[in-house]
Amino acid sequence: MFITFEGIDGSGKSTQARMLWERLAADGRDVVLTREPGGAPGAEDIRKLLVEGDPGRWSAETEILLFTAARRDHLERTIRPALDRGAVVISDRFADSTRVYQGATRGDLRDTVDALHDLMIRVEPDITLILDTDPDAALARGLARKSGEDRFEDMGARFQHTLRKGFCALAQDHAERCILIDGDRPVQSVAADIARRVEAKL
Ligand code: C5P
Repeated sequence: MFITFEGIDGSGKSTQARMLWERLAADGRDVVLTREPGGAPGAEDIRKLLVEGDPGRWSAETEILLFTAARRDHLERTIRPALDRGAVVISDRFADSTRVYQGATRGDLRDTVDALHDLMIRVEPDITLILDTDPDAALARGLARKSGEDRFEDMGARFQHTLRKGFCALAQDHAERCILIDGDRPVQSVAADIARRVEAKL
């Protein structure tokens, strides 16, 4: 079972991914928590190339290639082996982030994103939990824990609103696997909601 968490920065997806991982592990399941960009040693090296440094360093096209290269490595080294042995894999971001961040926000590159996905990835999650939160609150949360090392953290409020729309549209387009979760609730309520929905499908 392959489960992904998606949402804008500061939406709480990383916290919720960890809480679900803890819950399933406590039930004695073989469960792997991973993330993108990254999730394997090579992919983590590519993550550094992506998130550190000058925002103009890569063209939009090169950026998509780097995200796809990182994802391919993540798939080969971490996701596929875990799924093959029957584990549950929980990934904090996956291909939907590229569809929304690069496909929907950096020009009309959605076709390029889709073509690369079809060529190199060809895997979709069984369940995608999209944390839907108020973009202004999410931005404030994101700024509060700002690391200073991630150039994507500086994109601002308009960008957050565009992303939210992108994730909501994606949830509609892929209703067979996507579940929109109201993230503007206390952390424990969100976690209980997610656990109930996932356990119904396990
Ligand atoms: O989710 P996380 O904070 O680890 O992601 C690292 C950064 O990369 C974030 O600021 C996120 O907005 C950005 N990102 C992106 N395109 C993706 C995935 C992540 O711009 N496809």
